[in-house]
Order: sequence, then structure tokens, then C-alpha cells
Amino acid sequence: MDTRIFRASPSAALGLALCLAATGAVAQRSAPATGVDDYPPALAERLARQHGLEQQAAAKLSSPRSDFIISRRRWSAGDTILVAFNGGTPALHAAIAQVATEWGRSANLKFDFGPPGRPRTWSTADTNYTAHIRIGFNQPGYWSALGQDSLNTVSFPPNEPSMNFERFDVQWPHVMPARWKGVVLHEFGHALGFNHEHQHKECFDEIRWEAGEAGEPDVYQVFLAWQGWDKAKVDNNLRAIGIGPGVDLASPLDRRSIMLYAMPAAAYIRKERSKCFIAQENLVLSVQDKQGARQAYPGAAGEVFANAREVVDEAISRAASPLSDAEAGALQTRTSTIAVAQKPLLYIQFGSESQRSLARRIQASGRTAGFMVPDIENVKNKRAIPSEHQVRYFREQDKASAEAAAKVLEAAAGPVRVLAVRGRVASRVHRNLIEIWIAGPTT
Ligand SMILES: [Zn+2]
Repeated sequence: MDTRIFRASPSAALGLALCLAATGAVAQRSAPATGVDDYPPALAERLARQHGLEQQAAAKLSSPRSDFIISRRRWSAGDTILVAFNGGTPALHAAIAQVATEWGRSANLKFDFGPPGRPRTWSTADTNYTAHIRIGFNQPGYWSALGQDSLNTVSFPPNEPSMNFERFDVQWPHVMPARWKGVVLHEFGHALGFNHEHQHKECFDEIRWEAGEAGEPDVYQVFLAWQGWDKAKVDNNLRAIGIGPGVDLASPLDRRSIMLYAMPAAAYIRKERSKCFIAQENLVLSVQDKQGARQAYPGAAGEVFANAREVVDEAISRAASPLSDAEAGALQTRTSTIAVAQKPLLYIQFGSESQRSLARRIQASGRTAGFMVPDIENVKNKRAIPSEHQVRYFREQDKASAEAAAKVLEAAAGPVRVLAVRGRVASRVHRNLIEIWIAGPTT
């Protein structure tokens, strides 16, 4: 597990006209400001600070395992990831869901957008997370949190989007950007934890970091003219992502990746002849994107860091030099994020409409207890309803969560039995879920 990884991402709506300016002159700015992923300044600053503190702290720990835990932002294989929208119509939500689901054909990971016709929503008044991924339309730009960062309470609190598609809500369906599907695939690539392909180490040497001898502008000038980016932003978005501890999957450079920017040829020393240059944005998942998704989210359930907090705490106690309060705080937030990301989802099932309001109360208190609670469901006629209140769990690692869920159910409904489901049924359930069953009404 010591290889690194890299996955790329395509950037959404880059203007291609610039590629024609091949003579070394900087192309005219022809792309919309939203052409490449670009966090709003305040969010970019918050993320840079958070990631910087994590890295500083990790460097003091000199513990490969804790480094790995801190820096790996992917979900666990087999997980169901809840997605919610704020704004836009159900038709737009369905369209985004359909495109995003492309990833799920390769990755052993399921995006759950809510029941058909009733997409899940989140609100800026939320105090608990209603979904792992929260999509919004009214911030500037197209962007997404990287994997589990969407649950980092400092970087992406519950009342803020973790993914943004600027103005899609007003553009749908008639004036959508031509490349919108590529944008959605790219941002969901980030949500799966994949980085940009142009930050692949092989592209680092291709980029013109310094002005050429014949007066060719450096990449900073190229991006200033093209996107209006300052140096820090260029470095953040283009510098190679090293062999850092969190980079645990390696793949060769992929020019067809949805995670690769179609940036102006002038950004590269060899211009159009650079192996990282593409004249047009990639708009669909490449063969290698799909392979990477399979590798990152394999069929068998992946490694679970149930004890992430302990591993990191242990590393902190043995650190060569003490961590600052800010560094320790950043690690605390990071390990809490991992715990939330790994928590099983709470499915609430009942068999009589008279219990719907009780189910809703349990849903609310489940969320307060830190659970992600998908929509509650009346399963009458589909499943046998038990005669006692039950919490069922399927994986040993979910036992503590099942007991916490039992407390939630008990407070609302009375005595509860906690059942570890084993055998054939359990072997089909690799996902991060536990079930609450409300007993059938006594007649
Ligand atoms: Zn991107």
C-alpha cells in the first residue's frame, strides 16, 4: 500500500480557443471564470490552512500509518454515500445523478440521491449533516471537496455546500454549458477523492515554471492572462502532488482522464507536443479513470480504520517535537471526520402509516446523535415486521454504532433488541448501514 496515487480530473468548462495561440504568446482570456475548478477565496484560504496544519502535524509524527490515515481522503469500498441538493429542480437533480452514477459502474461505491422523484435536500440552516455530499448552485465556480473532506466540520460545515455548480439551477435545461456533463463527472471524481491528472508527477517537468529564453511566458503569466489566477492559486492547482503518504494508488499518466485540464499550450515547455497537453477537454471517463475507480473502490470491502483516532493519538504521544495547539486541533478534526465518514447509515423501517411521525422523530434524534439518516420507509408488504423494536447490524465494526442507535430508538419508542445479523443475509451486506425496525402496532 505504499504506492501513490493519482487520479485526474478534468476541468470543466475551459475554453479551447486558447490552444490555437501556439506561438508562445499568451492566449487571450477566452474561458469563463468558472472554466477550471476554483474555490471561492475564503474557502480556498480555509482549506489551505486546514491542509497545511494537517501536513505540518503529520510531518512531526513520523508514523507512516498515521500519515496514511491523515492524508487519505477516500471513502471505504462498498460505502453508500448520501447526496443532497440545495436549489434546482428535481429534473436537474435527476440529470446530475444520472451522470454521477457513471462512476458507480466502476467503483464499488453507491451514490444515493434519495428516492426516485424525491431527491434529498439540504439547507443552509442545517446543524447536522444530512448527506455526505451537499450540492449547491449559488457559489462562484465549479468545485468539490476532496473525498471525506466534505464532512470536515472546519472546511465544510453541515450548512455549506461541499460541491458547487454555479448557476446550473437557472441554466437548466436550455442554457446549460455544453460541457456540463464533463464538469459533473470531474467534480464527482474529486468527491471520490481523486486529484487532478495534471498534478501527476510526470506533468511537473512539462510545465514552464520559468520564462523561456526566447521570452516565452512562464505558467504564472499564462494563467494570469487566461484565468486571472495569482501565483498561489497556480501552485495549488498545478504543483505535482508528491508521493505523499495518502497517495496509495499509482497509475501512469492518462491524457484521456476526466481529471486533466485542457490548459493553454503555452503552459508547457513543449507546448502542443507536451504529453500533458490536450487540445480539448475530456468529457467522459477514460478507460484508466474507470480502472482507477475500481482500484480505489474494489469489490471486496476495503480496509477500515476503525481505530484511526487511537493510531493518531498514539503517534502524537510519541512525536519527536510537540504539536502546536492548531496542529493538534487540525488532527482532532481530521480523525473526527474519519469517524463520521465511517459511521453506518441509519435506515428506519416501519410497517404502518400510523408510525410515520414516530419514525420522523427517530430520524431527527438520529441526526442529532451524529448519524446520517436516509429517508424513512414504510416497508409493509415488502419485509416482515418484527413484534419488538430492533436494531440490526451486519458488520462487527458497526456494533458500537448499533448500540448508539438503540439508545436513540429506545428514547423514542421503548425497549429495543440489538441483533447482529450473521450468515447469508449479512454476507450480502457489505455496506455501511444499520437498520432500525419499529415494532408492528399491537392490535
Ligand atoms: Zn478539478
